[in-house]
Amino acid sequence: MTPFNEFIVKVASRCNLNCTYCYEYNLGDDSWRRQAVVMSDATCRTLSERVREHALAHGLREVAVSFHGGEPLLVGAALLDRYATVMREVAGHDYEVCFNIQTNATLIDDAIVEVLRRHQFNVGVSIDGGRAANDRSRVDHRSGSSYEATIRGIRQLQAGFSGQPDGLLAVIDLRNDPLEVFDALAGLGVQRLDFLLPHHHWDRPPLRLRGDPHEYGAWYLCIFDEWVRGRHPGVDIRFLRNIVQQLVGAPGDFENMNIAPATLVTITTDGDIEGVDCLKSTASGLQRTGLNIRTASFDDVLPLRLLALRQSGFGQLCATCQCCKYSRVCAGGYFPHRFSQKNEFMNPSVYCTDLYWLINQIEDRIRTRARQNVGVSRCPS
Ligand code: SF4
Ligand code: SF4
Repeated sequence: MTPFNEFIVKVASRCNLNCTYCYEYNLGDDSWRRQAVVMSDATCRTLSERVREHALAHGLREVAVSFHGGEPLLVGAALLDRYATVMREVAGHDYEVCFNIQTNATLIDDAIVEVLRRHQFNVGVSIDGGRAANDRSRVDHRSGSSYEATIRGIRQLQAGFSGQPDGLLAVIDLRNDPLEVFDALAGLGVQRLDFLLPHHHWDRPPLRLRGDPHEYGAWYLCIFDEWVRGRHPGVDIRFLRNIVQQLVGAPGDFENMNIAPATLVTITTDGDIEGVDCLKSTASGLQRTGLNIRTASFDDVLPLRLLALRQSGFGQLCATCQCCKYSRVCAGGYFPHRFSQKNEFMNPSVYCTDLYWLINQIEDRIRTRARQNVGVSRCPS
C-alpha cells in the first residue's frame, strides 16, 4: 500500500457561509451536526503523533497538512497558531510539515495573516468568479452576497503575505460565462487557478442547460483555447494542465483525474478518520471508516475496502473506463462523480461525455500544433 502523505484536517465543522452546492451541508450528509465545532488541542496533539508514527514508519521526509472545514478560519488566529506549532514541534527534525489551507477568505484579518505568514501556509481561496457569478451559489446564511468579504480577505492577505493566496478555486456553473469567470479570477493577481466540476453522480446528475452531453467540456475548452492563445500569461490552470501533461505522457499531478494511488486521508474535528471528504456529496456515508485516531493508526486505515480500491490503480476502474481510449488521462474522472447506489464506484464519471470530448479536443489541438512544428510551447504552464 502507498502511504498517506497529505492529511486533510477538518479543524472546524461549521461555516459562516452556506454555499448551495456545499457537500458538507447541502447535499444530504449531515454528519457535521454530530461533530465538535472545532478541533481541540488534545485531538490536534494526538493527530500530530499519529502523523509522526506514519511518517517514521514509511520513511516520509515531508508531509502536507491541509486545514479545511467548514471554514477553517473560524478557529481564530490563536488556535490556528497552536495547531501549526504543535504539528511542527512533534515532527521535530525528522520530517518537514507543509501547511495548506482552503478558505473562503471572509474571516481574514491582520492576526490571521500573521499566523499564516509565520507558518508559511499555502493559501487557497474559494471564489467562483466576479460578483454575479460568485453570488449565484456562494452565499451566507441569509442568502446574502459573500463577494465583497472574499475580495477584502484576498486583498488583506496579499498586502500582508507576499505570494498568497497562491491559488483560487472556482466551481463551474454553466450559467456563468467561462471567459468572464477566467478574467475575473485572473484579474485578482493569483498565479494558480482551478475550475472544478460541481459534485454530482449518477443518482443526482448535473444541470445541463441545453441537454448537450458535453456542455461542461465546452465550458473548459473555451478557457483552454484562450489560455493557450496567451490570455493571462503566467497563470496556471491545474485541471487543464493535468490533461495536457497526461496526453503527452507525463505523470498527472491532480487527484481528480489520476490513476495513481490516492495518498490523502481526512481527519474530522473529533479525530475520526475518513476517506475523501467529497464522498459526502453522495450522501452515502461511505466517507466514514469507523476508525478514530485515538485508537487507530493511519496504517490501520490503508487496507479498508474503499481506501484500498483508490490505491488499486487501473483495478479501481469499471470495464467501460478500462476499455476507454483515454483511461490513462481521465482515469474515470473524480472518484465521487462515479457513484451510483447500484454500482457504487464501478461506473464511468457522470461527466464521462464531457471529459472524453474535452480530452479529444485538446488532443486534436496538440496534434495540430505538433504538425505545425509549434508544439504547445505557448501553453502558459
Ligand atoms: S465556504 Fe466552503 S465549507 Fe463553507 S459553505 Fe461554502 S463550500 Fe461549504
Ligand atoms: S472518458 Fe469516460 S469512459 Fe473514459 S476514462 Fe473517462 S469516465 Fe471513463
